[in-house]
Amino acid sequence: MKRALLEEDHEQFRELATEFNAREVSGKYAQWEKDHQIPREVWQSAGENGLLGLAVPEEFGGMGIDDYRFRVVLDEEFVRAGHLALALAFHLHDDLVLPYLINYGTDELKAKWLPRMVDGSTITSCAFTEPGAGSDLRAVRTKAVRDGDNWLLSGQKTFIGNGAFGDAALVLARTDGESGRATATSFSLFMVERSEGYSNGNPFDKMGLRASDTAELFFDEVKVSDADRIGEIGQGLAYVKEQLPQARLAIAVAASAICSASFAQALEHAANRSTFGQALTQYQNTRFELANLKTESHVTQTFVDQAVLAFNAGELSAEEAAEVKLWASESAKKLSDKALQIHGGYGYIMEYPIAQSFTAARLLTIFGGTSEIMRETIGRAL
Ligand SMILES: Cc1cc2nc3c(=O)[nH]c(=O)nc-3n(C[C@H](O)[C@H](O)[C@H](O)COP(=O)(O)OP(=O)(O)OC[C@H]3O[C@@H](n4cnc5c(N)ncnc54)[C@H](O)[C@@H]3O)c2cc1C
Repeated sequence: MKRALLEEDHEQFRELATEFNAREVSGKYAQWEKDHQIPREVWQSAGENGLLGLAVPEEFGGMGIDDYRFRVVLDEEFVRAGHLALALAFHLHDDLVLPYLINYGTDELKAKWLPRMVDGSTITSCAFTEPGAGSDLRAVRTKAVRDGDNWLLSGQKTFIGNGAFGDAALVLARTDGESGRATATSFSLFMVERSEGYSNGNPFDKMGLRASDTAELFFDEVKVSDADRIGEIGQGLAYVKEQLPQARLAIAVAASAICSASFAQALEHAANRSTFGQALTQYQNTRFELANLKTESHVTQTFVDQAVLAFNAGELSAEEAAEVKLWASESAKKLSDKALQIHGGYGYIMEYPIAQSFTAARLLTIFGGTSEIMRETIGRAL
């Protein structure tokens, strides 16, 4: 079966991504993992090569590509090359921050932020989660208080990707002036640039995706111009809901790529490793495991590809995106585990790509909404 999703343009774009990986990332990635940092020059080079801000309209420096299949190809290439932290870091910038600016920002806001996100000179993060508010975003306590033409932002965020080395954050903050249980209209969104009162913790020592910096953010009466508010006051949660399909789909795409990569890595190892005088592929058990990996990664890819086409057509609902994220992330967790087993002890060593796939996959049933929250979402809509 030929994969129906991609066309010639997408495969040409894949070549660009493959070259970028080979030239800018291979051979350096292991050091970035030790540093918990993707160097700033790599962001800029990604910008120069047209890999960032694909959806940004031409008038704001981008290419105005609203075909999500290009993001799919990019993600697949980072995962296939074992550079999974780049997939995550660029995902936060492109899938989580950009859509809010593009869909709800004023022209002034777009002109200020979009060109520097496209050229990679400004690295952004998406700061929703707090120590007391992960699955339950209505528990967010970071607050913004009106002060003339500005807002004073105070609070703490946690688990923020690109948080330690990023330049600016998209922040969900309470703007209703209340401290009791929040309502659907208690929150607003702001683009917040590093300035006085904006600080971060050290990157967390994560089990995987270590080259991507994930950190706490602290805001102590940070002055934010009202011009950096996104959309209407009180509509923050409504916008977050509207953007759920893309946020969830993006994770499903990465998860599906991990499924395919896990199968490829297991097959290669099994073909080259011998025990008791024969290749692992000579054992029926290994062949059966590989057969399952191949079949299940195909099923996952087919489901995700269908969701990508629905998203392109503007038809992917938040509940359908929850199904795709649930299926693909749980599959990535399972398949990377099975593929790791085929590697024996080598699978446990981080320099082997399957160990990278396994630890990255473990995040995907948690990040961007846990599997339990996906089931809640799907179940409630029945
Ligand atoms: C490496 C990493 C990177 C991240 N990057 C970002 C980022 O860039 N920006 C950002 O804003 N956030 C980020 N997050 C946060 C992530 O989205 C949250 O961790 C996730 O939403 C879960 O929230 P929590 O950790 O507070 O878990 P909790 O909400 O405390 O959940 C704990 C457990 O309880 C379950 N649970 C909770 N509520 C229910 C319910 N109603 N029914 C059934 N079960 C329930 C959950 O499924 C989970 O198993 C990141 C997290 C990690 C680990």
